Amino acid sequence: MSKRPHSWCVVLDLWRAQREGPAGLARRQENRLAALVAHARKLSRFYQHLYRDLPAERATLRDLPAVTKRELMASFDDWVTDSRVTLAGVEAFVANPDLIATPYCGEYFVCTSAGTTGHPGLFVYDRRAVDAYRAISIGRITPAWAGARGLLRMTRRGFRWAAVVGTGGHYAGAGWMELQRRRNPWLSHAYRVFAVRQPLAELVTALNAFAPAILTAYPSALELLAEEQLAGRLHLHPVFVEIAGESTTLDASARAAAAFGCPIRNVYAASEFLVMAFSCPHDWLHVNSDWAVLEAVDEDLRPTPPGEPSHTVLLTNLANFVQPIIRYDLGDSVLVRPDPCPCGSPLPAIRVVGRRDDILRFAAADGKSVKIVPLAIGGVVDETPGVHRSQLIQTGPSAIRVRLERKPGADEEKVWRDVAASLSAYLAQQRVANVEIVRANEPPEQSARFGKFRQVIAVPPAGP
Ligand SMILES: [Zn+2]
Repeated sequence: MSKRPHSWCVVLDLWRAQREGPAGLARRQENRLAALVAHARKLSRFYQHLYRDLPAERATLRDLPAVTKRELMASFDDWVTDSRVTLAGVEAFVANPDLIATPYCGEYFVCTSAGTTGHPGLFVYDRRAVDAYRAISIGRITPAWAGARGLLRMTRRGFRWAAVVGTGGHYAGAGWMELQRRRNPWLSHAYRVFAVRQPLAELVTALNAFAPAILTAYPSALELLAEEQLAGRLHLHPVFVEIAGESTTLDASARAAAAFGCPIRNVYAASEFLVMAFSCPHDWLHVNSDWAVLEAVDEDLRPTPPGEPSHTVLLTNLANFVQPIIRYDLGDSVLVRPDPCPCGSPLPAIRVVGRRDDILRFAAADGKSVKIVPLAIGGVVDETPGVHRSQLIQTGPSAIRVRLERKPGADEEKVWRDVAASLSAYLAQQRVANVEIVRANEPPEQSARFGKFRQVIAVPPAGP
C-alpha cells in the first residue's frame, strides 16, 4: 500500500478541484477517464473485445457500451488488468475471514458485495483507488459534515468511530474500517466495527461502552438504535451519524436526528466505489465527480432529463485500474437536481429514489414486536454454504418464504436444510420463535417497480 504523502496530494487535489468549480471537475474527469479507458483497452481482454469496433482515439463515455455485474463476473479473469489476479485466487482469498483487509497479491484491497444487490460480486482495488477513497473520506466528506467545531469535538474524543455493519465476510464497510486500523496503529483504537447481527441489547451495551464520536449504520439498523436512544437505553452523543448501504426516508432521518441530537448524513456507497456521493444539509447527495461518473439513464441507456427518476444509473470508477468499472449498471433509480444546490457545492447533486430493503417485524415469545434488520437476516442466508443468491419475503406475522438459487454443484436438499436451520437459529437468538420458514419454488426475482433486486421484502408493507 502506498505512503501517506501520496494521500495528502490527493486531498490537495480534491480541494483544488472543488475550488475550480464545474470546469475543474470536468477537466479531471475527462483526463482520468481517458487514462482509464486506454489502460482497459491495453490490459483487459474483456474491454479489448467489448471495444473492438470503437475508434482507437477519443471515444467519449457515451460511445462506450454499458456493462453489468453478471457479465463482468462471468469474465473475471479477462476483466482484470493484472494477470496475477484470478477469480479462483480471489475466491480462495475471500473464503478465509482471517485475511480481511490484508493485501491480496501483496498490494490489493479486496471486498465482496453482501449479496443485497443480487448476484455476488468480487472487487479488487489498487493503491490509487484506496488512496482516492481515503482522501475523499477524510479530506472532503468528514470536514464538510463535521465543520470546524465538529472536527475539534472529534479530536477531543480521539476520533472514535463506530460502524454497525455486516461482519464475518470481506464486506466493503467492515473491511474498509479494518484496512484503516491496520495501516494506522492509532486508528486501531479509534475505529471499531460492531456486528449488526448481534442481539440489540448486546449492541446497545457495547456502543454505550465505546461512546463513539461518529456512528455509521445502515438506515434500518439506525431506526432501531434511534428507538433505543429515545427509550433511554442507548446514550450516544455523536458529532454526526453516517448512514450508508440503503436509502432512507427524510422522515426516518429526522427521527434519528432528533434522537441523537446531531445531523444525519448519508453516503451513497457501493462495493464498486466506496464513496460515490455524500449528502449536504439540504439532503442532496453530491457526487465526487472528479473520481466517479454517475449517469442517470432510461431503459435504452439514454440520458434521463434532470428532475426525473432514472431507470438505472451507470457508474464509472475513475480511481481503480486493476479491475476497470466503466459504465457499470448499478440498478438504482436516481434523480439529478436540475439547478445548483443551495448549499453552494459545485459537485453534481442527485437523490437515490429506488434502493431499500424492508425491516421485518415478528412477535417475540413475550408478545412484544421484534424488528429484524434486512442486511442481518439476508446475510444469514447468503453465508450458508452453497447459496448463490437468495430473497426473503415475509408473508405473514410469523411466516417467511425463501427463494433460493444454489451454487452449481451444491446439493439442493442440503443447502435448503442448512438455510432453514441457520434462519431458525438466528431468529431464536433474536427471541423470535415459531416462525414458519417456507421454501419457494420460484427463484429470486427483480422488483417490478424498480427493476431492482431487493433481497428482503415485507408483505404486507412493514408498518408503521
Ligand atoms: Zn447541496
